[in-house]
Amino acid sequence: MKILVVEDSRSSLATLTKYVEHFGATAIPAENGEMALDLFSHNRPDLVLLNIALPDTDGFAVAQRIRAMEKPGDWTPIIFLASLGLDADIEQGIAAGGDDYLPKPVSEIVLGAKIRTMQRIVLMRASLLAVTRKLDAANQELIRISSSDGLTGVANRRYFDEAISVEWRRARRHSNSIAVLMCDIDHFKLFNDAYGHQAGDECLRKVAAAISRHTERPSDTVARFGGEEFAVILPETSIAGALMVAEKIRHAIRELNIVHATSPTGQVALSIGIASAAPGFDNPPDDLILAADKALYRAKQEGRDRVCRADAT
Ligand code: GH3
Ligand code: MG
Ligand code: MG
Repeated sequence: MKILVVEDSRSSLATLTKYVEHFGATAIPAENGEMALDLFSHNRPDLVLLNIALPDTDGFAVAQRIRAMEKPGDWTPIIFLASLGLDADIEQGIAAGGDDYLPKPVSEIVLGAKIRTMQRIVLMRASLLAVTRKLDAANQELIRISSSDGLTGVANRRYFDEAISVEWRRARRHSNSIAVLMCDIDHFKLFNDAYGHQAGDECLRKVAAAISRHTERPSDTVARFGGEEFAVILPETSIAGALMVAEKIRHAIRELNIVHATSPTGQVALSIGIASAAPGFDNPPDDLILAADKALYRAKQEGRDRVCRADAT
């Protein structure tokens, strides 16, 4: 344990240093405020014993500057050394960021006891911080799990609903258009029937990964909308841009070369409906999703493995 001892009187400094060393800690002696701050920043002590009266400044200013130097979450206990009878000094010392005080002349026994209490508080604080960090990590993990689809790892429907509403409002604020792609695997029931449910799951994972690879902007969202249906949100994207992304995705699925013998194409393929809109003041994003869904229906009717755009956007 390292203890920074700040005291202007040489004899008091020597006595305190001796007490600290008797206690089994390492003393870092400082005779004035500047030296104390310099030693603090270089040595990062575990505790500071700080006299109020100093030749260049006072202990209150030193305490305040130590607190300002500490990073968020850091804390070094500061014990003021106060002359007997000067209660206002104690009050001001605590207000300046001090944690406790010792009356002068300092008793070795009381100093040892105070160092022990501070050590105890430091340990409790450290374990509390460790628990808080674990809780934060667990919360982050919970958020991740609750917003992603367990099978494919892309966003889930719940996340999609939140994201479309956030992006819709953002697009309205910036007068941008926003596009939605509704993608549905062709003849997927037949795929499951022919190759089994596990192969079906594996296919869903590959399709989700391929869609994600081809939606490159950080603001794009790929979500599993339902069984074998994926929805993509493309902020700041016109219908022409959405068409390009959709075609890239459709080709990428064909390039996966997943055999689907009972489908007319002989391979797993994707039908995609696209729609783009500039949000108005009262309309919700539902109409955009519905328009993309209708376009998807048309893509299915017109022969599958194709992209269809919504009529009125
Ligand atoms: P279409 O080309 O018209 O889209 O035909 P389809 O067979 O793909 O559509 P349909 O809606 O009739 O069937 C969807 C199938 O998707 C039914 C179901 O077996 C399968 N499916 C949905 N969710 C999962 C899943 O999590 N895992 C697997 N393996 N299959 C799934
Ligand atoms: Mg399907
Ligand atoms: Mg479907």
